[in-house]
Amino acid sequence: MLWLIETDKIMILKTVSKNKKFLDKFENISDPYESLSKISSINYEKLVQHKPLSPSDISSLIIPSPEKLPYVCKVASMYRDSEKGKKITFSPKVFIPLTQLCKDKCGYCTFRKEPDNQEPYLSIDSVVNLAKKASELGCLEALFTLGERPESVYPQAKKWLKKKGFQSTLDYLFHACSNVLDNSSLFPHSNPGNMTKQEMIKLKEVNLSLGLMLESTSERLTQLNNPHFLAPSKWPKVRKKMLNISGSLRIPFTTGILIGIGETFSERIDSLFTIKEIDSKFNHINEIIIQNFVPKFNTPMKNYPKPTFEELLWATALSRLILGPKKNIQVPPNLTNKNFPLLILSGINDWGGVSPITIDFVNPESPWPTIKTLKESTEFFGFELTPRLATHPDMLKENKINLSKRIQKKLKQSINSDGFPKINKGYYENYHS
Ligand code: SF4
Repeated sequence: MLWLIETDKIMILKTVSKNKKFLDKFENISDPYESLSKISSINYEKLVQHKPLSPSDISSLIIPSPEKLPYVCKVASMYRDSEKGKKITFSPKVFIPLTQLCKDKCGYCTFRKEPDNQEPYLSIDSVVNLAKKASELGCLEALFTLGERPESVYPQAKKWLKKKGFQSTLDYLFHACSNVLDNSSLFPHSNPGNMTKQEMIKLKEVNLSLGLMLESTSERLTQLNNPHFLAPSKWPKVRKKMLNISGSLRIPFTTGILIGIGETFSERIDSLFTIKEIDSKFNHINEIIIQNFVPKFNTPMKNYPKPTFEELLWATALSRLILGPKKNIQVPPNLTNKNFPLLILSGINDWGGVSPITIDFVNPESPWPTIKTLKESTEFFGFELTPRLATHPDMLKENKINLSKRIQKKLKQSINSDGFPKINKGYYENYHS
């Protein structure tokens, strides 16, 4: 029955033929800068010089337009190529959900669980075993994603932590990261929600980078019947504060926006400019994730319409034009089914974390492409798939960030002079499927 198996090449060709009109236009624009300048209010010279765009430049491009999409994508790709060349990076990772209990209730989340008879936290043994297995498979990052401060609302969590000798979830997270750092070849990257300055100072000792999605600057989304009403940790003021504090500490920091959760197009653009403004003060934003909302069963937003793929391309291309050619822009490849290879044409230079060993616990219904599929899809569009650590090579090379001595010591053995991880020649041979 071999003939029934859809190879990667056939999958990509089908995607290409489904989007032929867009691709033909994308390929055949004779002067992309001039074309985009004509259909917007953006100065031609500014585009030619790949200058990051301002709010007034973007004002005529706020609402996505199918006719203008190929022009916006083409120029975004040219911005990307001018600084990032023909490499698309990814971070081979293991996803470690240290706890799925959370004090908040976002309207779209299935990651969050209510306490049951299970242990509220993963044990250190299971964390380290997972990290060791991931190391053997060529992973480089231990992604700790967890619910926010569950001990503040769940006695079960508080009791468990106390019994094990920990003051808080963040205290236990430090211990878990420290163990992974010392007992495997992986570098931890943690997303535990909001933290104080002191908590970030402590956690950066054992993390190569930290992360917190801005998601959206829309205050409306915090009101009744909106996704962040029961999630005070998602309120824009709180998130912006943490992005600023992480900048003042020069911690390499991952953030991004979630599109399609009820924000308007203008609010979406405002979120991107907010990230740009904070990064221009500190230059510490490691990467910007443009993530599309996917509705999930058993959530208040299960029937909410998801953003179209064209809308995602549009938002991603605008993020490249707003943030400029140097920033690392990422779209997860597992949230757009077979369309994902086309995201390369919207100016991304990174696929983010992809795991050959664990599922995406935040989007469990959306399997990651295999590393082999990711590689072939990237190469189909003329790019080279390149592994990276949790902090991007340009950040590590420029050395403008503040890493702890423990992290620096391990890094010395792990990266080359360009900031890329030292990997064996046969790296991809691990990944036949
Ligand atoms: S998205 Fe994060 S903060 Fe919101 S409920 Fe889920 S785990 Fe908690």
